[in-house]
Amino acid sequence: LMGQMMSQPLLISSIIEFVARHYGGNEIVSRRVEGDLHRYTYRECHQRARRLANALHGLGVGLGDRVATLAWNGYRHLEAYYAVSGSGAVLHTINPRLFPEQIVYIANHAEDQCLLFDLTFLPVVEAIAAQCKTVRHFVLMCDRERMPKDSKIPDLLCYEDLIASHSDEYTWPLFDENSAATLCYTSGTTGNPKGALYSHRSTVLHAYGSAVPNALNVSAADTVLPVVPMFHVNAWGLPYSVPLSGAKMVFPGAALDGKSLYELFESEKVTFSAGVPTVWLGLINHALQNKLKFSTFRRTVIGGAACPPAMMDTLIDVFGIEVVHAWGMTEMSPLGTCGGLQSKHMDLPQAAQRKILQKQGHAIYGVDMKIVDDDGKELPWDGISYGHLMVKGPWIIARYFKDEGGEVLQDGWFPTGDVSTIDADGYMQITDRSKDVIKSGGEWIGTIDLENLAMGHPAVLQAACIGVAHPKWDERPLLLVVKRPGMEVGREDLLHFFDGKIAKWWMPDDVVFLDALPMGATGKIQKNKLREQFKGHCLP
Ligand code: ADP
Repeated sequence: LMGQMMSQPLLISSIIEFVARHYGGNEIVSRRVEGDLHRYTYRECHQRARRLANALHGLGVGLGDRVATLAWNGYRHLEAYYAVSGSGAVLHTINPRLFPEQIVYIANHAEDQCLLFDLTFLPVVEAIAAQCKTVRHFVLMCDRERMPKDSKIPDLLCYEDLIASHSDEYTWPLFDENSAATLCYTSGTTGNPKGALYSHRSTVLHAYGSAVPNALNVSAADTVLPVVPMFHVNAWGLPYSVPLSGAKMVFPGAALDGKSLYELFESEKVTFSAGVPTVWLGLINHALQNKLKFSTFRRTVIGGAACPPAMMDTLIDVFGIEVVHAWGMTEMSPLGTCGGLQSKHMDLPQAAQRKILQKQGHAIYGVDMKIVDDDGKELPWDGISYGHLMVKGPWIIARYFKDEGGEVLQDGWFPTGDVSTIDADGYMQITDRSKDVIKSGGEWIGTIDLENLAMGHPAVLQAACIGVAHPKWDERPLLLVVKRPGMEVGREDLLHFFDGKIAKWWMPDDVVFLDALPMGATGKIQKNKLREQFKGHCLP
């Protein structure tokens, strides 16, 4: 017996239609690369997205064609999100922090037909345009006055002219909800980047699944500022989950330094935000140095890399901001787990609650997970046994774009490449990425624990721990540290700080102080670079 409900495909266009109709007057505020603040409503966003959809049609972009963006978080980028996917084409968000040759590689691999880009990226695009073999149209996302007089890019189009010259009369087409909607490439720390090709169905389900209180908890009462870039796994789905919730949206553009972010948080009364740990470093330092408080900022999601407990403590105890530690990956759209307490935890002492919040969190509905040993045997959820973390669910990839890398699933589960524990209450804690874990005397040393501890020292700004070859133990931990400006700590003092906090054999064999750590395109420390740099490091 079949249910007798209306059949309506889960399409991305339904989100912009919904928000424009039911929360149409709510605002989208963007700091533009031009320098000023732009503000308009969801209703106007919908109108301009429909004009853009007509314009794309006029440029010959058809169903399934890839349209790339090289853009910051801003209203024009949001219009592209809805116009491209909504019209049945595929939005390919390119990370502008990649090297130009990597951008060329993925633009060609994706067979992008159009490239929409912000003014900031004009020099990059001019340098690579000739090598992007499939791109037929280059569109600069600015108004006529800011268009370059003579660009090296042939037939360079102006975004605002395109929008202005097309009608907003457009009906979003209906098609199979399993059609491709957006394409994101993994950052490719090992080998060439691989594409995760999301569908309309997976994107809409992920937006629903990530908006609920156990996850990001976004509602129409919020003002949301996604610091996580729209070119990094679709800003963790916020360009969909925020409109779906009717919340006001604030886009920071290219100004991601502590001062600019702080000003925007305050002037726009932001309540909720999300980003990788490194961006919070800048914001927290700015606020601490200038003795500033946040007047409306109440909750933030931190993920993409482990949130150091010291950072969580500062946000909660000094600023009164609730921290939701989240874990996920490009291949998972990206959200898998989110931190938070359950009713049975409410009477626990604060320190015990903090231990729970420090974990990477609890599976959200839509994601199942398990940990297995090297032979694929499932391990117990005891908070101690650690193994390879496997996931499944409707917003997790079944294969990479163009079948790159062949079969990826193991018995229907996606191997995340992370090593973790899961406790009896279902909280997952990442020990390490399998390629970062240090193998010492046949045992594993998790580098995240050591880094978190080091960052608990007042003089340590950033820390990374890597394995270095050792004649007797195979590998031993080497700790690389960036000191806080104006603060001092020596090797012995720092190692002494670890005493009694870790098993003796986890103690780093050496500490090296550096001016900076190499950061990748998604704001994560590039440990492969560090391993290369310290390959022959002589341990004392
Ligand atoms: P890439 O894999 O290319 O670096 P992703 O953004 O997809 O790009 O990164 C996913 C990985 O980031 C995860 O597999 C995990 O190793 C790491 N990660 C994400 N969130 C967290 C977190 N909260 N704690 C620790 N590691 C995390």
